[in-house]
Amino acid sequence: MIKIYPPKTTEEKGEFKIASVFESEGHREELWFSFPSKFREYAVTEQLDAFVVGLLFLGLKTGQDIEVCGKLSARLYYAINHYLINALCLANTDYKKIKVEAHYLSTINLNLREISGTGLSCGVDSFATYYDHLNSKPPFAIEYFTFFNVGSHGDFGGENARRIFSERFGRVKTCANELGKEIIKFDSNLSEVLRMNFQQTHSLRSISCVLVIQKLFRNYYYASSIRFDQFKLDKIRIAEYDLINLQMLSTESTTLWSSALQYTRPERLNFIADFALVSKYLDVCTNPYVVDRKKINCSRCDKCIRTMLLLDFYDKLDRFHKVFDLEEYQEKRQDFVAHIRAKRNKETQDYQLLNLLKTKGYINYKVKTRSAIFRVHSELRKIKKVFK
Ligand SMILES: [Zn+2]
Repeated sequence: MIKIYPPKTTEEKGEFKIASVFESEGHREELWFSFPSKFREYAVTEQLDAFVVGLLFLGLKTGQDIEVCGKLSARLYYAINHYLINALCLANTDYKKIKVEAHYLSTINLNLREISGTGLSCGVDSFATYYDHLNSKPPFAIEYFTFFNVGSHGDFGGENARRIFSERFGRVKTCANELGKEIIKFDSNLSEVLRMNFQQTHSLRSISCVLVIQKLFRNYYYASSIRFDQFKLDKIRIAEYDLINLQMLSTESTTLWSSALQYTRPERLNFIADFALVSKYLDVCTNPYVVDRKKINCSRCDKCIRTMLLLDFYDKLDRFHKVFDLEEYQEKRQDFVAHIRAKRNKETQDYQLLNLLKTKGYINYKVKTRSAIFRVHSELRKIKKVFK
């Protein structure tokens, strides 16, 4: 049984920290979140919503029920027990079906401001979410950006992830300033507590931070990476069923939305590429190992080349010369397409890309020849393995 106790708050050097002690497998630990003190009045100290959502995966992983020794949102209690745990267990059969119990349930709307927020990473999905709400009126207009340290800078957290988090924050903050919005930096030890794969768990990790400040956000947009029709209960990528997750994590105070859900990745890239600021800040690269990069994006990794291919397809790549190394792209592009074409287990994004490129004649005889060579190499490797 995981027992979660009411939180305590402290303040130091302009940072407000909210922490709860919890017991798991006989050990006492602490889960904490911290953010700038100026937002302290929006912290939810009377309910344990954020801590339950943050620790839910620990319960699912270890098979321990969760006892909330305090108040929990009644809506959250209902949705987690009836639907969310079942959906997560269907998506990943390694999880154990558990129960969440709370000493008290609350139906109070704690929200003090009729405004919205969203995360800003300077990636395609976060820009698509921002520009999609450009003309929204309150309570749907975006007032604040958020930036979380709950695994996207290193699955298991630690000091290295915290250093990357601070470095990236500097860049993202400059972009937020140019957009005329404040960005709220959230640190937490959730990654160190969970020690789980980020791709399989990120939605709940990020939303636990949002639930810490439900008094601020009436609506919160969590960018989807897929379009509605690509919905799937997937073991590896929790993002593919965020449509369910976010509905089930909404409370009486804050409604969560899976945003930019109406666009495929190529569509959202085409949409945001028209905004000048995007060509200055777009950051899609997830490859931390390229140290000799000339631009923000390494321009060599899978994600970088895919993005450049799409921008090229829409005749918008030249605008992005500040963030991508276009010479590197010219060198790598043909082999990359040939590789994708030769792949045996193609993903949705591979089919999307190839279908688009076909319409503009990118799949020429050179690509076809390279692709055939890659296939032969792959078969030879398999035969070698058999005779080893
Ligand atoms: Zn890259």
